[in-house]
Amino acid sequence: MLIVENDPSAVEADLAAGRFLCPSCTDGILARWGFARRRTLRDGQELRPRRGYCCPKVGGCGSTHVLLPDICLLRRKDAAQVIGEVLQAVVIEGESLFEVAARLGIPADTVWGWLRRLRRLAGRIVAHVTRWLLVLEPGRAAPDLEGRPAAQAIEGLGALARAASLRFGLRPPWSWASAVSAGRLLSNTNAPWPGPD
Ligand SMILES: [Zn+2]
Repeated sequence: MLIVENDPSAVEADLAAGRFLCPSCTDGILARWGFARRRTLRDGQELRPRRGYCCPKVGGCGSTHVLLPDICLLRRKDAAQVIGEVLQAVVIEGESLFEVAARLGIPADTVWGWLRRLRRLAGRIVAHVTRWLLVLEPGRAAPDLEGRPAAQAIEGLGALARAASLRFGLRPPWSWASAVSAGRLLSNTNAPWPGPD
């Protein structure tokens, strides 16, 4: 799986130009390989992700990868932006988890799960964000993050989204969170997140 920009024509052009490197072998180039299954997010957004193939005939490893738009996180039915805004409302603005969940029609258990995962991964997220910011904004002091670790993680992701949008073009803030975590921001995995280099 590879997280890509949420722009089908840009993805087509990048695939055709061989700009996607295979995430398995890291030096094969992904070629067009049909489409992955259609998915519908809870908020009604429909996706039909492209699939890429790391072709052995040109030195690739033979693996296929879903090119998942950055509006998603891996194996989550809610858009990354929805998840992020819910976490922000609960962690930063102190809103009631149950009220936010009810307002958006998301099961409270699901929101609890995101929150638990965010708390568990907060230190790792802050370290990752700091590493990215050092490259995106060289010479600039690391952001002065305050509060509990979960709040620091959210503030840090916000700082990273602003820096990345300035550098690479505007995307919704939580799309950057998906991009810099390979869609695994809230996943239960030790797989490394993509670094800035
Ligand atoms: Zn490969």
